Amino acid sequence: MQRDLFEEEHQLFRETVREFLAREVAPHHDQWEKDGIVPREVWKKAGEIGMFGFGVPEEYGGAGITDFRYNAVIVEEVIRIGASGLGYSLHNDVMAPYFVDLTDDEQKARWLPGFVSGELITAVGMTEPGAGSDLQGIRTTAVREGNHYVLNGQKTFITNGINSDLVVVVAKTDPAAGARGTSLLVVERGMEGFSRGRNLEKIGMHAQDTAELFFDNVRVPAANLLGAAEGQGFFQLMGNLPQERLSIAVMAVAAAETVLQTTIEYCKSRKAFGRSIGSFQNTRFVLAELDTEVEIARHYVDKCIRALNAKELTVVDAAKAKWWTTELQTKVIDRCLQLHGGYGYMMEYPVAKAWVDSRVQTIYGGTTEIMKEIIGRSFGF
Ligand SMILES: Cc1cc2nc3c(=O)[nH]c(=O)nc-3n(C[C@H](O)[C@H](O)[C@H](O)COP(=O)(O)OP(=O)(O)OC[C@H]3O[C@@H](n4cnc5c(N)ncnc54)[C@H](O)[C@@H]3O)c2cc1C
Repeated sequence: MQRDLFEEEHQLFRETVREFLAREVAPHHDQWEKDGIVPREVWKKAGEIGMFGFGVPEEYGGAGITDFRYNAVIVEEVIRIGASGLGYSLHNDVMAPYFVDLTDDEQKARWLPGFVSGELITAVGMTEPGAGSDLQGIRTTAVREGNHYVLNGQKTFITNGINSDLVVVVAKTDPAAGARGTSLLVVERGMEGFSRGRNLEKIGMHAQDTAELFFDNVRVPAANLLGAAEGQGFFQLMGNLPQERLSIAVMAVAAAETVLQTTIEYCKSRKAFGRSIGSFQNTRFVLAELDTEVEIARHYVDKCIRALNAKELTVVDAAKAKWWTTELQTKVIDRCLQLHGGYGYMMEYPVAKAWVDSRVQTIYGGTTEIMKEIIGRSFGF
């Protein structure tokens, strides 16, 4: 079925993004996988062609357009070339709402121009060694002292952890107040007492810097609190998680489509028993099933994008999109790898890289189990 999500302006933008990625990213990504990180320059270059912060008001350098279809175009194009090291979607899809919607004018002036130009790379620190799914169990604290908060604690698995200049840190400002005692503070590169740990070694996404962060009596100015008042952090996070989960779902469907396409081509060319492997009924049935499921997923996700644009995407809609599409993605890629035989296990074949890169999709942004909890709770149990 024809996709009807995009208008002409999105298609033009897609061409620009595709050309940029072919020129500035694809030729270098293998090297970045070896380096364990992408260079900051590729952020600035993306900023120069307007890839960041469409929703940022024009006076701060953005396009002033709130339309997630532009975000989706970037995600799809990045996934199409397997550039899993770029932390653009974390910056654009996850962090933009924090910096655009929760900042006052003074903060906007300080941070948004750099956000758009790619000179200020962003990250979010929710997860800690002792608390991931159970966010209320975090132990990082921020104690108000005059015009500052004194921040102590530790975060782990932070995307853009090494490259980031601005980290939105989730901390308890009133540990006795439960959900109402959590706040979001922006910690800046170079603040005394803020240090980064290891660039963590992962099974996939080798070019993505995922790191530990440490806060030892960091004096964060009160002017770096997000939102009008202390204690809103948990609700601010909950408000932004649907967009983060939708971004992951867009990634999932794009990755599944891409791998499916290359696998169909492979099955046409690979021969066994004197025939192409695509001529075996099993191959055709596997591909037919996967193609059907991916197309159905695509339409649900496109509908979610429209709902997000209309400010109608619910937490439950996004949870459904996230768990269903990411579980589908891992299934599709695994089955496609099987159809490649031994070559599927070789890193020189895109399906192998897609397989290791995809595994995290059912985990970060809220695990499949937590998504099902969210949906299940909506029945009123
Ligand atoms: C590559 C990568 C990048 C990441 N990037 C970021 C980032 O940028 N910022 C950030 O803050 N975090 C990030 N994370 C952390 C990620 O969001 C967490 O790993 C995730 O939320 C799960 O938390 P956990 O690892 O502590 O697992 P746990 O919470 O310990 O879960 C372990 C298992 O128990 C299950 N479980 C837990 N609670 C329940 C329950 N109530 N019911 C049923 N099952 C349950 C889980 O589903 C899971 O299977 C990243 C993680 C990875 C791997």
